Amino acid sequence: MKKYSIAIIGATGVVGEELLVVLKKLNFPVENILPLASKNSAGSYIEFDDKQYKVLQLTDKIFTEHKVDIAFFSAGGGISKKYSKYAVNSGAVVIDNTSHFRMDTDIPLIVPEVNPQDIVMWKNKGIIANPNCSTIQMVQALKPLDDLYGISRVDVATYQAVSGAGKDGMKELVTQLQDFFAFKLHDSKKEIFVHQIALNVIPQVDIAMPSGYTKEEEKMIYETRKILHKDIKVSATCVRVPVLRSHSEAVTVTFGDKIDIDIKKCQTVLKNFKNMKLIDDIKNNLYPMPTTATDTDNTYVGRLRKDIFSPNILHFFNVADQVRVGAATNSVRIALLWIKEN
Ligand code: NAP
Repeated sequence: MKKYSIAIIGATGVVGEELLVVLKKLNFPVENILPLASKNSAGSYIEFDDKQYKVLQLTDKIFTEHKVDIAFFSAGGGISKKYSKYAVNSGAVVIDNTSHFRMDTDIPLIVPEVNPQDIVMWKNKGIIANPNCSTIQMVQALKPLDDLYGISRVDVATYQAVSGAGKDGMKELVTQLQDFFAFKLHDSKKEIFVHQIALNVIPQVDIAMPSGYTKEEEKMIYETRKILHKDIKVSATCVRVPVLRSHSEAVTVTFGDKIDIDIKKCQTVLKNFKNMKLIDDIKNNLYPMPTTATDTDNTYVGRLRKDIFSPNILHFFNVADQVRVGAATNSVRIALLWIKEN
């Protein structure tokens, strides 16, 4: 089997570190790893498969100095904007974890379980975009439900973990909690989140947009429509919660006026969907939670119920480890799909 030289741009970050875990876990055919970061981390080491690799500084020449087949970009949109062209020009395929290329109509936005057919578009620009973490876990649940009944509208409220804001986001929550127990929470720094995140919830993820929504909410809205190839009406309220890892979502799905939902059928299609687990037994207190999903590669759904007043409306709760399913695992699954297609 052919093996591939892999570059990880942002190798020292939350997503970059998890990419190494997932490449190993999914037995990805790795020839070599090129870990890249800013000059702050250059010279440190990462470990993969019992081998140490020195972290190098990302430069515009790095992709000509080292052979790279697949470049996973995970260091922020500005870095992808500036450096992905050097990777593409050197002959590598770029799998981008940032939001920079997602809405480019020439670039495929892929969730392998949902729209694998779109990957053929990778040839347009040599780039494949990984969707927003909250979008991925939601469209995985929407796809089998849309195939079953045809979705006309989705309303979602998210409960997003602080690791969605990277290592510094986790640090800020932990520090604020320590400060709380030391009776000095009022002095605690608020640098990553605009308000105190410890013992609080913040109904704002990312910046405000002219529409009145936030950028994260608009990502969920427009990416869902691009991935499902449908003009589904979507509204999102994205909320940051003091959870370290794994995003949760309360999702309300409206089907056509004439649909009378059969909950058993909904449970069956979700249970049978690839990489999806159904935990739906409220009488026995069983449903997915962030602790269920963390460090796993599944998306979990539960709390399925038919709306009390409208037989065509379904409510459910879903959870996934957003660093894995929402970033690293989806990227590696894209890379495996790309290998298969080529
Ligand atoms: P993070 O923990 O803050 O890590 C950022 C990484 O980028 C670090 O490796 C950092 O290297 C590197 N970096 C920063 N500036 C750089 C530069 N000038 N040149 C090269 N490398 C540079 O962030 P993260 O959570 O892993 O997120 C990375 C990207 O993935 C973001 O675009 C984010 O939106 C996206 N994403 C994150 C998640 C998530 O749940 N965290 C999910 C989906 C997508 P140093 O160590 O040198 O600073």
